[in-house]
Amino acid sequence: MFEQITIERGHCTLCNAYGLAVSLPLGGHPQLDGPLVCERCLRASVKAADVLRVLRVAKSPKGKRTPNKTRKPASEAPRSTEPYRGPSKHEVGSLVPAADPELS
Ligand SMILES: [Zn+2]
Repeated sequence: MFEQITIERGHCTLCNAYGLAVSLPLGGHPQLDGPLVCERCLRASVKAADVLRVLRVAKSPKGKRTPNKTRKPASEAPRSTEPYRGPSKHEVGSLVPAADPELS
């Protein structure tokens, strides 16, 4: 992993196009240059990284979770994990409410 990004003019390590490119020092021997990568190749690399992520997530069931997602505060609505708290399912009759004399 690189810790520094420097801008240089030169030939891209990947496509050999000449122009402004990003040098990615790898922290190894100072005589060994890191790759010099042009904008086009960097954008293509990001897409390639997305493909790798899709494959990784598809392979691992745990990967499907998004660990950095912030939790929403608990709302008033009952959560689906809570046990059923309504009247006994055997007591429930018609869905049409019976006429309530107090409300009419
Ligand atoms: Zn390139």
